[in-house]
Amino acid sequence: MKIMTCFAHPADTVTNCGGTLARHADAGDEIVAVILTHGGRIHPNKYAEEWRRENPDDQITAASILEIAENKKRELERAADVLGIGELVLLDHDDTMATVHEDVVEQVAEQIAIHAPDVIIADYPQNPVVTLSSHTVATMTLLAALERAQTFLRNVDGRAEVNVKQVFFSGNPVLVGDSLSAYGQRADCYIDITGTVGRKIAAMDCFPSQGYDGDFARKVVESNNGEHGRYAGVNFAEAYTRFRNETHTLLPLTEHARSQDYLTRHRDYSVINLREQFPVRRGE
Ligand SMILES: [Zn+2]
Repeated sequence: MKIMTCFAHPADTVTNCGGTLARHADAGDEIVAVILTHGGRIHPNKYAEEWRRENPDDQITAASILEIAENKKRELERAADVLGIGELVLLDHDDTMATVHEDVVEQVAEQIAIHAPDVIIADYPQNPVVTLSSHTVATMTLLAALERAQTFLRNVDGRAEVNVKQVFFSGNPVLVGDSLSAYGQRADCYIDITGTVGRKIAAMDCFPSQGYDGDFARKVVESNNGEHGRYAGVNFAEAYTRFRNETHTLLPLTEHARSQDYLTRHRDYSVINLREQFPVRRGE
């Protein structure tokens, strides 16, 4: 299977679906990560911490947007190696992006045409009417690009149409255990990342410039992936909402659902000792 991810900022790929990507990389699947902005303005923690010090390091506080973006690119490359992302496509737009731009839609459509992924992972577009979130803008750009990639004509555009089979939205904040509790608004698909959670943490540790390393990486995984895990009945999970309906020949019942013992599973999935298993290395 070929997976494409499409997110606004460099670290989004890791926080949203890093554990899932590591599992697919282990299974031999190809992964290409498309990132729309250089992320130079978002989470400038390292720089902010420095300019709040009494005697700040001029080298750090004088960093230009290009230098900050360049540093983040190197952090992302290290994280991609940890997770098994085979290719990074950095479109390098400024992260002030507040609306969908035709030229960016065209760029993303071109990447879809080049890579012809089977599935795409993107942020859940929380409220497409309010463009205050660049994550939502990124996904609206992707959805427009998906449609454009479907209209490529080999004789006109020099390339054939691409029909991506499924899009998995990550980051839908609504956590419920069934399809009725919140009128259908929910994550409806979970990936058990218990086996790759250490690599997700290690990949987040690659982003000290935005304060994603160390304690914060463990906090995110414990709380966010831990809570998704509770709904999924496993230690740690990443949650998705499927864009398209699925067709089966028989009513689907997963191996996981068959194997669950609902009276005892909470004992197993509640064992969490991330700080012992993946200790923060201080002073490095
Ligand atoms: Zn982001």
